[in-house]
Amino acid sequence: MTVQDWFEKRKEAQIQRRALEARVEIEANPDLWTKCVHCDAQLLKKDIEDNQMVCPVCDYHFRVNARKRIEQLFDEGSFEEYFSEIKPTDPLEFSDTEAYKDRLSAAQQKTGLDDAVVTGVAAIDGHKVATAVMDFDFMGGSMGSVVGEKVTRIIEKAIELRLPMLAITSSGGARMQESALSLMQMAKTSCACARLDEAGLLYINLITDPTFGGVTASFGTLGDIIVAEQGARVGFAGRRVIEQTIRQKLPSDFQTAEYLLKYGQVDVVSSRKDLKDTLSKILAMHEQGVQ
Ligand SMILES: [Zn+2]
Repeated sequence: MTVQDWFEKRKEAQIQRRALEARVEIEANPDLWTKCVHCDAQLLKKDIEDNQMVCPVCDYHFRVNARKRIEQLFDEGSFEEYFSEIKPTDPLEFSDTEAYKDRLSAAQQKTGLDDAVVTGVAAIDGHKVATAVMDFDFMGGSMGSVVGEKVTRIIEKAIELRLPMLAITSSGGARMQESALSLMQMAKTSCACARLDEAGLLYINLITDPTFGGVTASFGTLGDIIVAEQGARVGFAGRRVIEQTIRQKLPSDFQTAEYLLKYGQVDVVSSRKDLKDTLSKILAMHEQGVQ
């Protein structure tokens, strides 16, 4: 065996030992580790969290819930919640495979929220905004009466306080357990957006993954400026439904933020780490314009 062979062999043995150690560590503490759904890398959950829930290896953006989003985007301690007293009911006493009220309480327990949106007033680099932040973890971010009512009221609050409005969406669409009551929220929130426009106030949409259905078709895309987070999927009907309807194969990047930017449906695509800066710049430019 040459000296070089010996070194090669030793290096290989070291690599194998390290891989084994890593495996033992993962098995001993499975809660600390996770796999990136995009690149398959074994990652410490803490490393992803410290990186704003973005994969440090491939830049895949994991979904973030409303609480985390508020933490990431707004100045520390600036978020003041409004309309938390509005809570969901079950007016139709709806039941499919499970009763709606059971689904509601399970979602409330899982997320610590009353419904799929959190509304309030906050600041981005000192620029004050009224905001609605949706949470996909709560029944797929579906829009029922509470989401529609809270979004409408916070828009009305923006008009009253003369503040720009920022809607951060993440939703599968209307909440089918509330049937027509849920569909009415599209008209209601859209009317509120029109009043905001008439009042001459800025409305920014921040579209995050995924934003679909009745939310896309109402307040989710009615903004003056539409910002989409990198990698977000955005649309009305889902890809499979469209493919079946038109009997055509759609391009692989169809309904992504980047695709929609190319075709003019969104104005800016921003990575998560640049989002706060992007929004801050838009708000600063607007403030200068109004003065
Ligand atoms: Zn990854």
